[in-house]
Amino acid sequence: MIILRNSEELKIWIKSNKNSGKTIGFVPTMGALHEGHISLVRKSNSENDVTIVSVFVNPTQFNNPDDLKKYPRTEEADTRLLEQAGVDVVFIPTVETIYPEGEMSKKFDFKGIENQMEGKFRPGHFDGVATVVGKFFEMVQPDRAYFGEKDFQQLRIIQELVNQNDLPLQIVPVPIMREPNGLAMSSRNTRLSPEMRKESPKIYQILQEAHEFLKSHSIQETKEFVTNAFSKTKLKLEYFEVADESTLESVLDYTETKKIRGFIAVFADDIRLIDNISLN
Ligand code: AMP
Repeated sequence: MIILRNSEELKIWIKSNKNSGKTIGFVPTMGALHEGHISLVRKSNSENDVTIVSVFVNPTQFNNPDDLKKYPRTEEADTRLLEQAGVDVVFIPTVETIYPEGEMSKKFDFKGIENQMEGKFRPGHFDGVATVVGKFFEMVQPDRAYFGEKDFQQLRIIQELVNQNDLPLQIVPVPIMREPNGLAMSSRNTRLSPEMRKESPKIYQILQEAHEFLKSHSIQETKEFVTNAFSKTKLKLEYFEVADESTLESVLDYTETKKIRGFIAVFADDIRLIDNISLN
């Protein structure tokens, strides 16, 4: 596995692989890697000649400076894990390499998708995500790029970015990887206190119960069920939304023809965790 840190080296490597007709799979990450990330790598390995993983904690997508400061950084463990997973190149640029003109996001219009849920609670977040992913796509020129359904709204944003700009690559969604207790794997889980480690599996348990509950109740009643369930835990519910998978608009009347998903954000002390579940 090769570790590259500057864009010139990356350019040369990409050019030589493109010239020899190799297909490139790309997995963008912010490091502190776990099995969830590795599931994206495995899928990329199986569908492309070479796989590039980027490890970059993108400052422009953090609306909370403390969250950025405390974001776990574990480069040595990450590169070991990626090497074992059979990655060809890991690209670890500096902030200056990605933002030579300063840390600024472009402004995007994703037909309202960017204003729902995470967009509402993390202003500017998706402008930061789309800015950095757009830059990476230009640099890496992948044939396929892999995104986890764990960040379902992010996945939809990136699909829109590709559609709106007619980018010549395929976005491949990858299902959520969970701990045996159901907690969605996340880099932030390493920061959970022992008490919150015990509490946080309730997020997925309540999502599954909500799925069952919805079979015989309205969406409004299901939302109340979820709010009530969290009031009995040590977790603090930020939002629970039932939304259309395509537009991500809130759904109040469920019809069989719509694909809907439950989306949730929860605080475990000061650590913000998100998850989602298909409700069809
Ligand atoms: P991050 O490093 O958190 O920015 O995540 C990088 C990529 O890995 C994103 O596409 C995430 O959606 C994906 N990812 C993170 N956690 C998981 C998980 N538990 N299951 C599947 N994909 C994940």
